[in-house]
Amino acid sequence: MLQRVEAERKRLADYRPIVGEEVIAEIERLADPLRGARVMHVNATPFGGGVAEILQTLVPLMRDVGLDAGWQVIEGADEFFNVTKACHNGLQGMDIPFTAEMKDIWRRYNELNAVRFEGEYDFVVVHDPQPAGLLHYHGRERSRHWIWRCHIDTSHPNPVYWDFFAPYISEYDAGIFTMEQYVGPGVSYDHLAIITPTIDPLSSKNVPMAGKRAREIVAGSGIDVSRPLITQVSRFDPWKDPLGVIDAYRIVKGRLPGVQLALVGSMAADDPEGWYYLDRTIRHAGEDFDIHILHNFHGVGPVEVGAFQATSDVVIQKSTREGFGLVVTEALWKGKPVVGGNAGGIPLQVIDGQTGFLVDSVEGCAERTLHLLEHPEEAARMGAAGREHVRRNFLITRHLRDYLSLFRRLQGNVEGM
Ligand code: UDP
Repeated sequence: MLQRVEAERKRLADYRPIVGEEVIAEIERLADPLRGARVMHVNATPFGGGVAEILQTLVPLMRDVGLDAGWQVIEGADEFFNVTKACHNGLQGMDIPFTAEMKDIWRRYNELNAVRFEGEYDFVVVHDPQPAGLLHYHGRERSRHWIWRCHIDTSHPNPVYWDFFAPYISEYDAGIFTMEQYVGPGVSYDHLAIITPTIDPLSSKNVPMAGKRAREIVAGSGIDVSRPLITQVSRFDPWKDPLGVIDAYRIVKGRLPGVQLALVGSMAADDPEGWYYLDRTIRHAGEDFDIHILHNFHGVGPVEVGAFQATSDVVIQKSTREGFGLVVTEALWKGKPVVGGNAGGIPLQVIDGQTGFLVDSVEGCAERTLHLLEHPEEAARMGAAGREHVRRNFLITRHLRDYLSLFRRLQGNVEGM
């Protein structure tokens, strides 16, 4: 049996004051015929990274509207997660080899997990490439509808990786991608859904926090809260470009010597490369004590992440590939303008010149960050526009609605969509 993840209870009704009655009523209407439907989500890690973040809220809300929803994580040793991290990188376009041995390891662990996957479900939702072989090795007989959910930016995949994965992911009845352009060649679905991720406005990270308390938390990590602060919250991953963030910060610092940089990142269970990249980041920062590199082993959990996002003057997300970038959503929700890499799902959120700025280089990132630091009123205006953009488009209730619509489509019951 695979490890089950227990998520805390959540109630849809609690979201009414934020999203309004109409949104809640629509969800209830869609959920009604799905009452009792057995749903199982499967992914690679119970914490760290966007997928775990979403499932922590999506699963309890599915339960609250009457579905019998659960969440399980696959198992694997380092050799497997080293390969899946390479797959993640390859599918996002990195030029790296995919040896016969690596493919064997991926297949072997997928087969193993498929054998351990128990139960019968109406809907199985398999998240990301790590467990993508679950359907192939388990067979579809015991569960009714199989859905593959891709969270990564597969707009420019390395073909060696894409060609390997395409047959596995094509077996699913439905595919969910964040953007249309992520659906690569040779893959088509009877049911294709384009669904962006979302945040939970009531999670401990996103729920409003008094400014004083947020500042105390940030000060507790050694930051001088009387001086400007720029922050990037991210796993330590080449695509998030923490080294580029440091370079941009250095340019800003040349003009605004008081500025500080926080790089906050959690070490996800399925990301062995994270430690290597953390080391590189620390080395790149050198002896500059105004660069603060923090992660969950420093006690930086969700509340602290939220405090950093709320306290920073500008939030950066300088990714060069980004499935969606929940950290961007989280920062905008806190009324912070975001300087974001013009990549993947970031432009859906950062509307250039309105909710922040899109950048393509270290210099551009520095220039826009400096501009926002020097024009706090404009920064506040953009932050407010960003919050409203998120409220309308990127809250978990919208996500729940989209899943329910897809389930109804799969059941052949499209009434009410
Ligand atoms: N996160 C966190 N602590 C950290 C770093 C990240 O809780 O130190 C969370 C972050 O707040 C966000 C998620 O992990 O909710 C990252 O999701 P995103 O889509 O930005 O990137 P991914 O890691 O999935 O590539």
